[in-house]
Amino acid sequence: LADCYAALVHWPVFNKNRSVIASALTTIDLHDLARAARTYGLAGFYVLTPLADQKRLAVDMIAHWQSGPGSQYNTTRSDAVSLVRLADDLVDLRRILTEQYGLSPLVVGTSAQNGAGRIGYQDMAGRLAGDRPVVVALGTSWGLADDAEKQCDLMLAPIEGPTEYNHLSVRSAAAVIFDRLFGRTKRGAL
Ligand code: SAM
Repeated sequence: LADCYAALVHWPVFNKNRSVIASALTTIDLHDLARAARTYGLAGFYVLTPLADQKRLAVDMIAHWQSGPGSQYNTTRSDAVSLVRLADDLVDLRRILTEQYGLSPLVVGTSAQNGAGRIGYQDMAGRLAGDRPVVVALGTSWGLADDAEKQCDLMLAPIEGPTEYNHLSVRSAAAVIFDRLFGRTKRGAL
């Protein structure tokens, strides 16, 4: 399997009025997504924000769970949080991973909305082999803005339940997506 990363995009995303904004970090997203990334064998979990105060908040949270009081209190969370890394946005992340691997990553975006050319989960799971790193880009606020989608080489089909209600939190959506792409059942082991 290629090295796969999760990226939580805080910029550029839409707000409720479809204005393009940088959203605020939510600390529960950070440690819940870190746990999901750790469970499903991801190589890292990037939190993407260009805002200095938001980066400081992430650094403080990472330090709390890695070397501060949290590291003694909850060692499994500390283990998961060790996957968290920071970068400004998908452009910056592409630059970082290209330098690290000598190959530009395959960035796959996620959205609750359907659209033309969305790739299915089975097809995407079949593209996870090889040396090229893979990034699963997740949105915050009202989802990835157009400039973030433009950084995605592919867009995954939306997860759909049997109802019209389609408002999963990013943490729930990520868990379903990771299970479909990286879960043992999908790889035929169960
Ligand atoms: N404030 C919200 C929360 O409670 O987490 C953030 C919502 S944000 C738009 C949710 C993100 O989760 C989306 O950008 C996408 O990455 C993912 N997501 C949500 N619903 C999804 C779906 N049905 N299919 C695929 N991804 C989905």
